[in-house]
Amino acid sequence: MAASSAGKIPDPDTDEEPLSSGELAELRALLEAKRVALVKAAQESLEQDMMLDTNEMPDEVDLASTEYIQSFALRLRGRERHFLDKIDVAIQKIEDGVFGTCEECEEEIGRKRLAARPETTLCIRCKEDQEREERDFR
Ligand SMILES: [Zn+2]
Repeated sequence: MAASSAGKIPDPDTDEEPLSSGELAELRALLEAKRVALVKAAQESLEQDMMLDTNEMPDEVDLASTEYIQSFALRLRGRERHFLDKIDVAIQKIEDGVFGTCEECEEEIGRKRLAARPETTLCIRCKEDQEREERDFR
């Protein structure tokens, strides 16, 4: 992993030591906290929706049923779902020992960026490129 950046001009944002296991543990805790908050918020909005459509609900609803869980997952708004997926991927990457590397250029993602957005898969430069492209499509 570190070998890929050898010989290149150091970047102020990426020219840092690899993440220590303590830092990884902190980032993981951050991701898990975000995940819990997201699921909770999604559950609350789902409960509100369900209170609104009680009339449309079948008489017997087992809240622990697979159907309920499936509909919960389906009803997660696109954005929330996307975010949840990203969090899961990031946690998986920590487990696999590949966390903190940009998916585009394979450079290490800066610490500050990871602390602010641990679920990110792109370094700041690739993210900016992507946003520029997205703007151009509008
Ligand atoms: Zn990159």
